[in-house]
Amino acid sequence: PSVKEAPQLIAPRRKSRKIRVGKVEVGGDAPVSVQSMTTTPTTDINATLQQIAELTAAGCDIVRVACPSQDDADALPMIAKKSQIPVIADIHFQPKYVFAAIDAGCAGVRVNPGNIRKFDDQVKEIARAAKDAGVSIRIGVNAGSLDKRLLEKYGKPTAEALVESAVWEASLFEEHDFHDFKISVKHNDPVVMVRAYEQLAQRGDWPLHLGVTEAGPAFQGTIKSAVAFGALLSRGIGDTIRVSLSAPPVEEIKVGNQILQSLNLKPRKLEIVSCPSCGRAQVDVYTLAEQVTKGLEGMEVPLRVAVMGCVVNGPGEAREADLGVASGNGKGQIFVKGEVIKTVPESQIVETLIEEAMRIAEEMEPV
Ligand code: SF4
Repeated sequence: PSVKEAPQLIAPRRKSRKIRVGKVEVGGDAPVSVQSMTTTPTTDINATLQQIAELTAAGCDIVRVACPSQDDADALPMIAKKSQIPVIADIHFQPKYVFAAIDAGCAGVRVNPGNIRKFDDQVKEIARAAKDAGVSIRIGVNAGSLDKRLLEKYGKPTAEALVESAVWEASLFEEHDFHDFKISVKHNDPVVMVRAYEQLAQRGDWPLHLGVTEAGPAFQGTIKSAVAFGALLSRGIGDTIRVSLSAPPVEEIKVGNQILQSLNLKPRKLEIVSCPSCGRAQVDVYTLAEQVTKGLEGMEVPLRVAVMGCVVNGPGEAREADLGVASGNGKGQIFVKGEVIKTVPESQIVETLIEEAMRIAEEMEPV
């Protein structure tokens, strides 16, 4: 089913206002977008553009690049010009780079007011420059760099502290009639993070950028992000997401897109329905599922492939899928749209599934 027809969880989308990050809309009824951040030195323009191209191919909607020095700021015009997706410059400490990023043609700027000491005085100029250039801003509040004043007040970066910081910073822009911004309140603890976004969602109609900051290596970070984003998105909270992993950024995009697909917030593409295997398995399900997944990687059609270890649930699941195998006695029964089309020896299961998948995919519309 399309995203609109697919069953949705718990609550409809929260009504946030819509902003633009270059060609990508964020908030309102715009699809939840997926972001990542480059890990190359921004000064290495070619390497950064190469990484952006890889992210784009993996399904990234918006990319952020760090801008910690003048040399990085100098690289922004070329990166913004050549990138296939909107570029957001990530600025800490130095307001002058905000202006440089706007002049460079970046689609957005992320500011961390907790780290920009003279921020209050400069908001008016930043708001005017951003407005004139049609550039949006993210107010990125982060537990690790919370405003000192709030840290003292709350003792630690609690959900309330993050929200107070965000609401105050939002008001600074709003005082100057600037509304093209989204907000994030990131924390490395998914529970604190969820509570912060829940509270923030009640306080205004700002579009929200979700993130569990410093979520950890791939396994832990994936789970923390999936749990936190799932809790929020299932209740309609969140307009754009960034999964933070100590892993290559393409992995962040894969995880982000998989989270959105699992919640029916993005059309599902290839889906492998494979059983966990058990004492009844008559085939090595792990290897089989892995080989099939690998063989079909990058498939752009909504194909559901069942890989089942035995005949208990095997035929049932395999029948429900577009394509499937139910294994037993050294053989695999291959199902297509519920019909057994052939039985092949175990050694030919993978190649047969891949062959059939390609054939079915050709008749399907990419999503
Ligand atoms: Fe076990 Fe068969 Fe179920 Fe796989 S399909 S988990 S092998 S009973």
